[in-house]
Amino acid sequence: MSVSPELPKFRLGDVVRLRKPHPCGDDRWEVVRVGADFRLRCLGCGRYVLVPRRKFERAVKEILGSIPDGYQPEPPPPRPRRR
Ligand SMILES: [Zn+2]
Repeated sequence: MSVSPELPKFRLGDVVRLRKPHPCGDDRWEVVRVGADFRLRCLGCGRYVLVPRRKFERAVKEILGSIPDGYQPEPPPPRPRRR
């Protein structure tokens, strides 16, 4: 029996931290669609991105929690004022 590393499974409503932060400064994303492509919503600015599953799995640093389980993401820190 071959032992393969357990891959994390993602569900709708999971909040993950990615290795690469969004240009808005937040690195937390909510999973809003799963499948061959994952759709993510940036918790900092609310933008949506579409990421291929494999790329997404590599980019995830940690799973912070799942909104359906009652996880409440903290609001993003206030943005620095632009000059
Ligand atoms: Zn953003």
